[in-house]
Amino acid sequence: MTKGKINVTTENIFPIIKKFLYSDHEIFLRELISNAVDATQKLKTLASVGDFKGELGDLTIRVDVNKKKKTITVTDAGIGMTAEEVEKYINQIAFSSAEDFMEKYKNESNAIIGHFGLGFYSSFMISDKVEINTLSWQEEAKGVAWSCDGSPEFTLDETDNKERGTSITLHIDSDSKEFLEEAKISELLDKFCKFLPVEIAFGKVKEWKDGKEVKTDKDNIINETKPLWTLPPSEVKDEDYNEFYRKLYPVGDDPLFNIHLNVDYPFTLTGILYFPRIKNNIEIQKNKIQLYSNQVFVTDSVEDIVPEFLTLLHGVLDSPDIPLNVSRSYLQSDSNVKKISSHITKKVADRLEEIFKNDREQFEKKWDDLKLFIVYGMMSDEKFHDRAEKFALLKNIDGKYFTLKEYEELIKENQTDKNKTLVYLYATDRAEQFSYIEAAKAKGYDVLLMDGQLDTHFVNHLEPKLKESRFARVDSDIVEKLIDKDEARESKLTSEQQADLTPVFQSQLPGLEMSYFVSYESLSETDQPVMITQSEFMRRMKDMQEMSGQASMYGNMPDSYNLVVNANHPLVSKISEQTEKKLGKKLEDLRGEKKGLSEEQQLLEKAKEGKKEEEIPQSEKDQMEDVNKKLGDLENKRVEMLKKYGSGQKLVKQLIDLALLANNQLKGEDLAAFVKRSVELIK
Ligand code: ADP
Repeated sequence: MTKGKINVTTENIFPIIKKFLYSDHEIFLRELISNAVDATQKLKTLASVGDFKGELGDLTIRVDVNKKKKTITVTDAGIGMTAEEVEKYINQIAFSSAEDFMEKYKNESNAIIGHFGLGFYSSFMISDKVEINTLSWQEEAKGVAWSCDGSPEFTLDETDNKERGTSITLHIDSDSKEFLEEAKISELLDKFCKFLPVEIAFGKVKEWKDGKEVKTDKDNIINETKPLWTLPPSEVKDEDYNEFYRKLYPVGDDPLFNIHLNVDYPFTLTGILYFPRIKNNIEIQKNKIQLYSNQVFVTDSVEDIVPEFLTLLHGVLDSPDIPLNVSRSYLQSDSNVKKISSHITKKVADRLEEIFKNDREQFEKKWDDLKLFIVYGMMSDEKFHDRAEKFALLKNIDGKYFTLKEYEELIKENQTDKNKTLVYLYATDRAEQFSYIEAAKAKGYDVLLMDGQLDTHFVNHLEPKLKESRFARVDSDIVEKLIDKDEARESKLTSEQQADLTPVFQSQLPGLEMSYFVSYESLSETDQPVMITQSEFMRRMKDMQEMSGQASMYGNMPDSYNLVVNANHPLVSKISEQTEKKLGKKLEDLRGEKKGLSEEQQLLEKAKEGKKEEEIPQSEKDQMEDVNKKLGDLENKRVEMLKKYGSGQKLVKQLIDLALLANNQLKGEDLAAFVKRSVELIK
């Protein structure tokens, strides 16, 4: 028997392993089984090149849990190790400035394991003693037993073991009893080993017999040795992809599309990505892309490997070229990782373009579900945007789909304004903006439906990329001005009449939480008498700010709208005439008074011209102040008079309410009052 000390510069590495790797205890199983897989694969390679001439026999890797003895054993029939190899690979752990490194990476156990090749030693995280029994494939090799109780001392013995391969037995410590539960080990095997390339048996298959669960003598193989992504794409059928998807994510609908990645130069990358049908956020967070390295599960946080917008996809990636056991910051700067990331983006774009070209009908059918990914991708990745311009679709209110180019063609003729700007009209809510949509359609305009989660952002993203174009929501202006074509119409109201009507309408406008600016448009007699619009700019500002969740100056401002009065509508003329009839005389008098004062004001202004402040006599200053005050008072009087009159006009209120109604702003009590008033007006 040989006794020895494990060769590490730090006196005792085990407390360190236990202390720092606590968060990832469960990886011990992955490490042991990966070693077993490697040893088995190596043996197969030796056999295939003729170095190993014996019988391969049963190469199944076996995992056994013995709850009574408190042991977990992993056995393989791989190449095994000679005493020298145990000495070399197990006893001598290259260890330099260990403590510094541990300190630096204490939260990244993967980094530590990779750096030191501590894979095997991770078993000490959960054991007080570990034994290795091994027999090398080499002729004349002798069996070796190694044992270590967690201190740097180990024993090494020769045995008469005749079974080729390695068996590693962990004596589970009292803090780690959970790993003696069959269910726990099953769960870990499923997580880490599901797709390993060598069969792994965990106990025996169980069967129901006479109402009882009994063990059969069939091995319970927990893995699929040739998962779908390792097959050449030409051998895989559509149905296979869906079936594999269900294996990965048992709950959820079939995916929309899949992308089979299969690259071997300049890096090796295989995998299958799926565009999922996403119904809610929980699914996005739960079902993630799984990263494998030679079929060993590594992680399902792939944020540093695939571009952010593609983390929404599902599926598996497998690449031995992604450095796994390194820190995140290193990963992001790794050139292989960068290449892989842009390759994946390119492949995704290729695939989408291919489907779009070959089966547009199907592509359109799935567009509403795909849109989120594509739009997100376009906004976050310039290169992807350029690729996606070919297949990204715009959907109009009638459910028709267009590429950006097609849509430009469609609207070019009819929707170019007097400044040669192409105007893309859109609605964000079919029901709420119904009357505006109808008005635009009646003018022969096409209206896009932009009601997706990201569409507000997307409009902002797309607008500057389209040449000489702008987006306008259908309710951002009256239809005549949405696309301003300089078609002047005469107004039936004089500017004086308009000025008198403004307070009349103002008197009936609702609460303080919104502000309305009254303006006049010379529309046709058959257009609406009064309309409410909200400027595209103001609304977008508010939308963006609401989405980013921060209160800025726009957040504190009341919603501001335009109350657009159709100066040519007969009902508006009627209100104007009635106002004149009722207040005409008084208004005339006020105007007369005002005129006199205005003239006086002008004379005083003239006298002031060219004089410095101190050269103006006090009497003139007083006079000026007096005139200004009088003018102000007159104006107030006029407005008050008109407001008082207006507030009693049911017709005015009715027209405003109709406009509010069309804009979905008439609610609750106001709506009830409107209904009541309508009935009265009909009587
Ligand atoms: P790594 O696997 O990263 O090299 P490990 O500490 O897990 O680090 O293993 C060290 C070495 O021990 C392996 O490279 C291999 O040569 C040897 N070894 C470990 N487990 C086995 C096994 N089951 N069969 C044969 N050799 C093994």
